[in-house]
Amino acid sequence: CAKALGKARYEVFHPKMHEGASLLLQLETSLRHALLKQEEFRLYYQPIVSLLTDKIIGFEALIRWHHPERGLISPDDFIPLAEETGMIVNIGQWVLYEACHQMQRWQQQFPSLQPLTISVNFSGKQIAQPHIFKQIKDILQQTGLEPSSLKLEITESLLMDNFELANTLLSQLAALNVELHMDDFGTGYSSLSYLHRLPIQTLKIDRSFVTNIGNRGENLEIVRTIVALAHNLNMSVTAEGIETLEQLTHLKALQCDRGQGYFFSPPMESASVELLLRSHLARGNFTHRVLKK
Ligand code: C2E
Ligand code: MG
Ligand code: MG
Ligand code: MG
Repeated sequence: CAKALGKARYEVFHPKMHEGASLLLQLETSLRHALLKQEEFRLYYQPIVSLLTDKIIGFEALIRWHHPERGLISPDDFIPLAEETGMIVNIGQWVLYEACHQMQRWQQQFPSLQPLTISVNFSGKQIAQPHIFKQIKDILQQTGLEPSSLKLEITESLLMDNFELANTLLSQLAALNVELHMDDFGTGYSSLSYLHRLPIQTLKIDRSFVTNIGNRGENLEIVRTIVALAHNLNMSVTAEGIETLEQLTHLKALQCDRGQGYFFSPPMESASVELLLRSHLARGNFTHRVLKK
């Protein structure tokens, strides 16, 4: 027993692990610092395109962290830490305000476009905040963005882990006209029974299915099934991670409603979005780009 304990102790204080732990601590310290200064976070925006009209209908806001020494850090490398430490609550507030504010300005700047929408990613810790509904409502009021222009993206696992809280919040948001979109659909819990019980308007098909849609028969069938499921339940479908014309062609044939991916555009800074919207306005849609490929 003592031997086992000794071994465990050894493992806990293994130099390699210690190195890892102190790196994590450093990251946590600089994340706290970034949160206080509010200068190092940036939102990037990726267009979401109607596959019926090839027009941009909105953008997804994706956070980036410009670390002074390490450069650009992607959300997959710090959002989990932010969730664990609870910092995601403040980061999420910042993201929501910034995204709504930016979209309100773009709508003013491009009044002849159909009102563009903004999709914002939400995490479980945020949903569990006691005054989260009021906070969302306040941000919409402060920024002047119509609630119908805001889409909140949540994942299946977030929903299942916080079902009662999520259920209440989702109903409140639906009453306000804020849409709820299910992110990374197909990768989380396989229980589908909640789908028709919750006010979810869109399923976002996970990129992993889209990536292999052309070369493996079963992925095509999975996507076909998700599209049918969504449409039968009166929901729409957005495909994530479209990178090729072939994938796009398949998705259009399957009557997928919307798409997002490097084929159209990577996530970009707000200044580039403005240029894109200007040229989009001049051309009408993404057709030229699609035909040229
Ligand atoms: P997500 O919400 O599923 O976002 C889609 C991810 O796929 C983004 O990665 C996007 O850059 C990437 N992507 C888009 N099109 C393509 C493509 O054609 N090919 C490939 N290979 N990738 C593509 P990103 O920006 O690194 O974000 C990763 C994840 O981090 C997001 O996944 C989301 O879960 C989380 N995240 C990002 N921003 C926020 C935020 O503000 N709050 C929270 N809670 N989570 C966020
Ligand atoms: Mg998302
Ligand atoms: Mg996703
Ligand atoms: Mg994801």
